[in-house]
Amino acid sequence: MDRCSRWICLGDAIAFEIAVPPDLPIVFGVRPRVPRIWETCPVCGHVVAPYPEWTAQIVYEDGVALFFDGAKDLFTFLLSPQRSISESGTVPIAGIFVTSYSTRAVIDARDAFFVVGSDVLGPGGEELVAHGSVGEAREFSRDHGGTRVIGFEELSTSLLVAMPGGAR
Ligand SMILES: [Zn+2]
Repeated sequence: MDRCSRWICLGDAIAFEIAVPPDLPIVFGVRPRVPRIWETCPVCGHVVAPYPEWTAQIVYEDGVALFFDGAKDLFTFLLSPQRSISESGTVPIAGIFVTSYSTRAVIDARDAFFVVGSDVLGPGGEELVAHGSVGEAREFSRDHGGTRVIGFEELSTSLLVAMPGGAR
């Protein structure tokens, strides 16, 4: 059986699949995936696996996942119609996940809170630092000089454009 990701096609990739740890959450029936060592961020080209504390991902209904080296590039991708159309085609998104910086848990991005402007930098510089609760996010923001705590629905292209390296 042929399996293709967005970036790599393998003749028979079953042997290369990494088992998903059973404690990862299920969102709308979709579990997040564990990035394989060759997965790269479609926005900046960074290899994702060395940065598990920053990993974000989109899982499509056909099971294909795209991995990002931070929430900033995840949202740059989601908020860019050209990228979304060219990369995902017409397959609907089934789940969007980010990693909580405070707990390292993989969480539903739509329930996450993001600290803007902190002094903690990700692989691509300034980041939207994800947390699973508003309390954790506010505490992190206080400790690390954050300027705002925002939810998923508040992410915008204008905010990304204002971040160094954002909305490329
Ligand atoms: Zn990236």
